[in-house]
Amino acid sequence: MTRTPRHDVVVVGAGIVGLATALELRGRGLTVAVLDAERAVAAHQTGHNSNVIHSGLYYRPGSDKARLAVAGRDETIAFCRAHDLPHRVGGKLVVATEPEELPRLAELARRGRANGVECRELEPAEVRRHEPAVRALAALHVPGTGVCDFRAIAAKLAELLVARGGELHLGRAVRRLTRRRSDVVVHTDPGDLLGGAAVACAGLRGDELARRSGCEPGVRIVPFRGEYAGLRGAAAGLVRELVYPVPDPALPFLGVHATRGMDGSVHVGPNAVLALAREGYRWSIVRPRELAATLAYPGLHRLARRHWRHGVAEVHGSLSREALAARVRRMLPDVRAADLEPAGAGVRAQAVRPDGALVDDFLFVTDEEPDGKAGPTVLHVLNAPSPAATAALPIGREIAARLTGDHRTGVAR
Ligand SMILES: Cc1cc2nc3c(=O)[nH]c(=O)nc-3n(C[C@H](O)[C@H](O)[C@H](O)COP(=O)(O)OP(=O)(O)OC[C@H]3O[C@@H](n4cnc5c(N)ncnc54)[C@H](O)[C@@H]3O)c2cc1C
Repeated sequence: MTRTPRHDVVVVGAGIVGLATALELRGRGLTVAVLDAERAVAAHQTGHNSNVIHSGLYYRPGSDKARLAVAGRDETIAFCRAHDLPHRVGGKLVVATEPEELPRLAELARRGRANGVECRELEPAEVRRHEPAVRALAALHVPGTGVCDFRAIAAKLAELLVARGGELHLGRAVRRLTRRRSDVVVHTDPGDLLGGAAVACAGLRGDELARRSGCEPGVRIVPFRGEYAGLRGAAAGLVRELVYPVPDPALPFLGVHATRGMDGSVHVGPNAVLALAREGYRWSIVRPRELAATLAYPGLHRLARRHWRHGVAEVHGSLSREALAARVRRMLPDVRAADLEPAGAGVRAQAVRPDGALVDDFLFVTDEEPDGKAGPTVLHVLNAPSPAATAALPIGREIAARLTGDHRTGVAR
């Protein structure tokens, strides 16, 4: 009889969070296997995002997002330099275009400074020196923000993991994780694996996997698609680096921004519309059972009741190029609808509580034996939206520290 393969830790998900975690665990001398349902790494959020190396400006001081984004920015840049991966640190502008946005811009500067992020308020004339085509009443310049290619970073993490003796199994979906004595059984169709512990970094399917594994996550992942449009021809010359609107504190992930990517092309987006399947990258991708479960979730009803106006505007912006152009024109008045062409989409895995609140911070839930009995640990990553790609390296270190009980080597709280 063949023995079930066993590793110190099994990681579910070969997105940037799972891979960073696995590499960190391997670096601590543990045997590790990473499993992903898809045939390539970074197939979902990690491979479909804005590729912005965030600075840590937006997040509530003291939150995990603030702490890990600030550390992650530096580490992402250092990782790209060390492995000769594409990146550029050209800074970004957050621009206020209406008087009511000025106090929010000031609050953003305060938050940024509290998080240790370098930023400077600019008058309109200074804004034009940075971004000549931008119209603004005022702006905040954040020189430390950059762009990179998170898919390339994930591919490098996977390469390093395998080179250092870790295993990577692609095309292998995990059905559920169950605890048995001192091991976690990782159930997959071609056969089970055993882990001394398991970490589930399953992105859009994180809550589903937790529930199937007997851990009630207390949240539901609601998939919000973010669509991008490219600026065609001469219109691409209207943006030098990154131009962002002032975020709405109630819905911080809303706000179409303009980004010059590593290949020189300029994208505007992402918007935020309810995806009709967890991996619903287009309106035409519909999974009726998944959609019915999302629509039946009381948390979504409460969220929709609170923010239905935003929801309607986002759908309008998705269906009408003119509506999207009008939004962009608030910051970049020379952009016309004819300048925009579809440029793909990503789907955010956003955890929503039953009361309709969006989970703001990263959420890691450790499923252990009740009553402190000894037994294997399963750690579920249940909310890792933006800036988790930027923060992936310190997130991986933090998860590894929690798993090995070595908090000294985690990021200091
Ligand atoms: C539109 C958009 C824009 C964004 N912009 C930025 C940005 O500019 N900067 C930034 O820092 N962050 C950004 N983010 C956030 C960032 O992309 C995510 O925080 C990050 O990629 C999360 O990584 P992850 O590994 O947790 O998830 P994912 O990359 O989604 O990986 C999860 C993996 O788990 C696998 N999986 C799921 N279920 C199973 C199963 N049962 N068995 C096996 N495998 C499974 C999936 O196939 C997938 O590969 C953006 C996100 C979106 C959607």
